[in-house]
Amino acid sequence: MIDEEIKNNVIKAVNSLEDEMIKVISDIIQIPSINPYLDINLKDERIGGESRVNAYLKPVMESFGLETDMWEEEPGRANLVGVCKGTSGGRSLIFNGHIDTVAPGPLELWTVAEPFSGKVINGRIYGRGTTDMKGGDVAAIYALKALLKAGYKPKGDVIVETVAGEEMMQPEIGTSAAVKRGYRADAAIVVEGSAPPYRLAILTASPGVLLLKVTIHGKAAHSSMRDEVIRAGGRGKDVAVSAVDKAMIIFNGLKNLEDEWGQTKTHPAFTRPGHFTLCPTTFAGGLNGIAFIPEECLITYVIWHAPQETKEQVMKEIETYLSQLAKTDSWLRENPPELDWSGGWWWPPYDISKDAPICKAAAVACEAVLNEPAKYYGFTAVDDATFLNQAGIPTITLGPGSIEVAHTANEYIEINDLLDATKIYAMIIIEWCGVTNTG
Ligand SMILES: [Zn+2]
Repeated sequence: MIDEEIKNNVIKAVNSLEDEMIKVISDIIQIPSINPYLDINLKDERIGGESRVNAYLKPVMESFGLETDMWEEEPGRANLVGVCKGTSGGRSLIFNGHIDTVAPGPLELWTVAEPFSGKVINGRIYGRGTTDMKGGDVAAIYALKALLKAGYKPKGDVIVETVAGEEMMQPEIGTSAAVKRGYRADAAIVVEGSAPPYRLAILTASPGVLLLKVTIHGKAAHSSMRDEVIRAGGRGKDVAVSAVDKAMIIFNGLKNLEDEWGQTKTHPAFTRPGHFTLCPTTFAGGLNGIAFIPEECLITYVIWHAPQETKEQVMKEIETYLSQLAKTDSWLRENPPELDWSGGWWWPPYDISKDAPICKAAAVACEAVLNEPAKYYGFTAVDDATFLNQAGIPTITLGPGSIEVAHTANEYIEINDLLDATKIYAMIIIEWCGVTNTG
């Protein structure tokens, strides 16, 4: 339980810092920090943004006494760590967030505010990276600031990390690099937005993600030969085979498998079933020109699999399914689709027990601030909690904002969410690390 007086003093301190927090978020939204590897052609232009954001945040952290460490694993891509040394005897805690963002996408879609404006409109801050996730980063920093301002010092070390490289799964230059540099703790919170379906939920697991490219081969001919290919009595595959027609067999087959996954693939953290999917993201046929019966068709999939499954299990299931499916068609039997697993690229899942001590501390904090039972769920997307858990640091995801607005035009964060998250983080420090009154 959190002492009522401490709670009220800290909440008051968070409220008093609202304007300052909004200004910091708005300022760092105006410093674009698009991950330079999202588009290799724009890499040179984009590199340095991550370092510039962290150069801004460094004096913010130092202004209330954090010891900072800023370093680059790759030139122009600085990480920043701020440490509040514990007075002793408490458990240590990491708050981890990334400072890179995705690109704004088509500018004409940003109808509410410009992507790098950081404009405040009707209780929301707008801009690329507000929800994903400069808002969460600043909430973590200000939770510590508020706690200290209210006159309390954590007993255990509290470490705030704002790292580079998350959007392209480059933990080796960001989160994992910080672990390697020696920043470890008894638990960690990744401050990514935790909605949907619940606001400020405790996220105890994430799916794993695999990429799959399926190439389906056909046999080209003039498009006027279509009747020979599809009509009864035509000469069929002696003339041509449409790769698009054959790709539809694969597409519909994987859709059926996806429907099956909706029934069969479950995990206790994902209480609403059906989260695990085979999402077709591109479908391109006729790569040899628009006037041909197409020779080749390419479908790409992003596969969101259940946390308890390994990459190998998922790959094997899909490979077996497709090879069975190919046997049902005379052309595909002889010319099976080619599967390319993007060199085995995989964002591994994480999965931590709801009974883990850090979950319990987070639940106490959520209940203290939100005055309702804590909500648990699985993270719909993936984040650096995977790599912190892999390093042996029990880690959950809990933060302001919703993945629904991340990566979209008119991305925003609710100021109310920010304030509540900041209060929850401060309460987690109190509950997890313990605090001493500095008077
Ligand atoms: Zn993110």
